[in-house]
Formats: sequence, C-alpha cells, structure tokens
Amino acid sequence: MISRVVFGRGSFSQLHDVLQPKRLNVRAPFIYIVDDVFKGNAWVTSRIPLSYDDEILYISADEEPKTSQVDALVEQIILKYKEKPSGIIGIGGGTILDLAKAVAIMLTNPGSAKDYQGWDLVKNPAVYHVGVPTISGTGAEVSRTTVLTGPDKKLGINSDYTPFDQVLLDPELTKDVPKQQWFYTGMDCYIHCIESLTGTYLNAFSQSYGEKAFELCKEIFLDNKLSEKESQDKLMMASWHGGMSIAYSQVGVAHAMSYGLGYLLGTKHGVGNCIVFDHLEEFYPEGVTMFKDMKKAHNIELPQGLCKNLSDKEFNTMIDVSLGMAPLWENAIGKNWEKTITREKLRALYEKM
Ligand code: NAD
Ligand code: ZN
Repeated sequence: MISRVVFGRGSFSQLHDVLQPKRLNVRAPFIYIVDDVFKGNAWVTSRIPLSYDDEILYISADEEPKTSQVDALVEQIILKYKEKPSGIIGIGGGTILDLAKAVAIMLTNPGSAKDYQGWDLVKNPAVYHVGVPTISGTGAEVSRTTVLTGPDKKLGINSDYTPFDQVLLDPELTKDVPKQQWFYTGMDCYIHCIESLTGTYLNAFSQSYGEKAFELCKEIFLDNKLSEKESQDKLMMASWHGGMSIAYSQVGVAHAMSYGLGYLLGTKHGVGNCIVFDHLEEFYPEGVTMFKDMKKAHNIELPQGLCKNLSDKEFNTMIDVSLGMAPLWENAIGKNWEKTITREKLRALYEKM
C-alpha cells in the first residue's frame, strides 16, 4: 500500500512542502524524472522545486522502459553525485512512473535491473520515491511492480520495495493528454477491471476496488454526463482503484497477449491492450461488447493488420512471451488453462490483429 497520498486539483503546487522534510542533506539531491512532453512547459516545470544540487532529467516516453535504460540512469546518478539522492520523483505516465520506481530500487541494490525482473528478488529498500501521474489508467502510481523490457523478457520488478513512498494525485495535470492516448490509457484501467473481476483469483479485496473502478469507467466512457474536470478527477481515481484491484488478483488474456505484441513489435501497453481486447469476445463477452460501445462513443479507430506480414518465427516469439505469463492465464482460465490455450489458438488470435 502507498503510505502517503495527496489528492486535489492544483495539489502539484504543494510538491515543495511534501519533499522538504525528506531532504537528507544539501549534498543529497532530489532527482526528478520528468516526461519530456513537459520540457518548456512553464505551467508544470515552474512548480518543480529545485534547490542545491537537485536536477530534472527529461526522458522520452516514446518507448517503454528498458532494463538497460534503468542501469544507464543509475550509473549517471551515482557518478555525478557523492551521496545517494534524497529522493527520486517521477512525473509522467506509466512509462515515467515505472522508470522512477526502477531507478529508486537500483540505487540501493547491486547489479543490473534485469537481475530483479520477477517476484520478490529485491533485497534492500529503495531510495525514497514519489510518483506524480500526468495521465490516468495504468495504475502504475499504486502498483507493486515496475514493468521493464529486458534482454530476454518483458517482466516487472515485483516487490514490497517497488511501490512509491508518496503519491501526489493532481487531476489537472492530465488536462492536455491527447484524446486517443486518453482513451488507450483509460482503457488499460477498464481492462484491468474486467480481467480482475472475471478472473479465478478474485477475492473480496480485489472485487471491492474493481467494482468501483468499473463503475467509474462506465460513467467516464459511456454515460457522457460528466464535465471535463469531473471526468479527469474520476479517471484518476478509477486508475487508482483498478491498480488496487489487480494488486491482489491478476490481469488476464488481454495483458498476456499484449505483452507479446509489446515485446516483438514495441506496441505500447495501452493501445496494445485495446488491439487485443477487441478480439476477446470468447473470453470476456460482456466486457468486449461494452468496450466496442466505448470505442464507438469516442470515434476511436484502432490500428489494424499489425501481424499481417509476420514470419512463423516472429509469431512464435510472441506466443512464447504470452504463454510465459502463466499466472495471467491461470487467473483468466483456471488451473487447467494449458488444455485450451494452445499455440495454434494464440496464433489464430494474433493473425486477426
Ligand atoms: P505513457 O507514460 O507512455 O504516456 C503516453 C503518452 O502520453 C506519451 O507520449 C506521453 O508523453 C504522453 N503524456 C503523458 N502525460 C501527458 C500530459 N499530461 N499531457 C500530454 N501528454 C502526456 O503511457 P501510459 O499508458 O501511462 O503508460 C504505459 C506504460 O505503463 C507501459 O510501459 C506499461 O508497461 C506501464 N504499466 C505499468 C503498470 C504498473 O503497474 N507498473 C501497469 C500498467 C502499465
Ligand atoms: Zn495494464
């Protein structure tokens, strides 16, 4: 669980007050990892409090985080400063939040980030880290994982040291998210709800968060009665609840297959989930029908024909990545998932995308 949370429109202006008591000493800087979409955006950057050796690192979110990128950032920070940073602050979407979490962990743990992809492999507590989401949906602000692409797998660092020590939720920061991206990342949250609520791992804890997030998603993407501000506020909370829901259950088929697309083709998480989910009627009949209604309501056209010209080898790579996500399949289908989820089945589904 995240131990400290601030919520409110405009609360980003309180970042200074939040961080000040956490400064270890004047030589231990706060390092801000900021989505480069905000470079030159004074409305955001003028409120990032900088003193002593504090630094902003602008990072592109065009590609999702890699273990090599985490290692390079950590090395850069260690070489530049004599002391460990007072804190790492991620300001951006899922890509940037995951990078911030991974850098905070790797500043206190030896080796490469790839050594920690998996479950509970992290030994030492991370550097104090803070998450400030600027787009809503992934739940990365609340989750116990940081999803990284490594040399041989795309897998999260799942550990008790991964979650942020502090999250600052200011829905106003999401006001300039482009419409398509708003939909794709928002649908990540909707898909978290469907996969959690229909999964075999479901329990009362996950269900209570999942139902709330699902209700909010319906209000935001279907009912069409909210003002823009209400919609921003509610999507930020939907993302939070969706993330809490999967924290104690698991995601399912859309995520398992979307990881395959992401690994082979670099397809980003939000849009990849949408492309896959659009073809999953047999697994999630009601959820997919509602998804199609949401797409229609917002005039969203999904990319088509991603797998049209792939070779057998490439299909097999995607299938291997996808089948490697055993807990996701077990959650979706049950303990005997391997009986029905065959390579041929996945190939046929990928061929439709
Ligand atoms: P993202 O962070 O890649 O951002 C999407 C796009 O929106 C980028 O171009 C970014 O620059 C832009 N953007 C962000 N905020 C903006 C703003 N306020 N105004 C204008 N543009 C803005 O996308 P995402 O969907 O939030 O995150 C995807 C990543 O999250 C993937 O790497 C995925 O693996 C990860 N993820 C992590 C978890 C987790 O629990 N850790 C869960 C789901 C997804
Ligand atoms: Zn997701």
